Order: sequence, then structure tokens, then C-alpha cells
Amino acid sequence: MTLDESLAATYIKPMTIRPILTVPNPVLKQRSKPVAKVTDETRALMDDMLETMYAAPGIGLAAIQIGEPLNVIVMDLSKDDEDPNPQYFVNPEILEQAEEQKPYEEGCLSVPDVFDEVERSARVKLRYLDYHGKEVVEWAEGLYAVCIQHEMDHLNGVLFIDYLSRLKRKRAVKKVQKAEKFAENIKDAS
Ligand code: ZN
Repeated sequence: MTLDESLAATYIKPMTIRPILTVPNPVLKQRSKPVAKVTDETRALMDDMLETMYAAPGIGLAAIQIGEPLNVIVMDLSKDDEDPNPQYFVNPEILEQAEEQKPYEEGCLSVPDVFDEVERSARVKLRYLDYHGKEVVEWAEGLYAVCIQHEMDHLNGVLFIDYLSRLKRKRAVKKVQKAEKFAENIKDAS
């Protein structure tokens, strides 16, 4: 570390990649709470969430997925060949939604390697606070609409697999548990 770096380290809190909770962790079923005010602490949480999401990699993450029961979501829907476009949502609400439903094959960092089709509103009108605590009202459609509805479900303790049949849901949880056990055994063996 050079002197410049050590100075920077004093003032800038480095972003941290946090462990992502997976099913069937009961914390994921918990309801999150609104944030009273967007502060530096909220921004530090959002920075960690973004870093964690990019490392996974994923396109959306709710705070509860790293064990923080707060109404905070991060997202980046940019394509691989585009510049990063991080989006931050504090206390998001859906004000209006289109009746039209659209299916989309969803996945979730808390249910790794499981993908299935879920139907959601094609367009939703959102209100949320951004990274700086400024209120934003806008319509989301396409992948943006899918992703924000998926992430907002997390704030209510709902996972995308909760929309699937009981059998499919059970299978999904089993698959995740099996993969984790396999990974643990490899770690123990090495
Ligand atoms: Zn998810």
C-alpha cells in the first residue's frame, strides 16, 4: 500500500462482498422495513450490495439477501457490451400496474441455478428514493418491470419459486441444498 492508498483507505470505506443467503434460510422469508432516511450508512449498504451483486454475478439484489431487513434494492440491467448502469431503490412502492401480464424465465441469487417462468405485470409505475435520497416516480417496463417486481417481492419475504407448484419449489430447494453440500465436501477434501 502506498501513502496515497493508505490515505484513501482512511477516508473511503472499501466496498465489501457479502455472503448471499440461499433457500431455505428463514431470513429470506422475513419482511423488510422502510429506511427512515437515506444516509451515508444506507449508501455504504448499497455499495456493498452492488459489489456483491456484480461478483455473483447478478442483475438485481435486495438487502435481505445479504441479511439486512431493509427496503433497499440494487440493480444493473446493462448488457455485457454496455457501460455499467447501477440503479438504487430505497423504499420502492408500486403506484400503478398494467393489467397485462407477461411471462419471463426468472432466476435468483438466493436460488442459484434454478430458472422458471413467472408471470408479472408488463408495466409498473414506481416511486422510490435514489442513492442520494431524491424521490423518483417513473414507469418500468420490459426487463426493468420484471426485475423490480422480483426484487420488491424479496422485501415481503416472497421468492420467485413461491409462484411455482409445490413440487417444483421443493425440487428447487433440494437442488440448492445438494449443490451447497457438494461444494462443502470439495472444500473439506482440499
Ligand atoms: Zn431474487
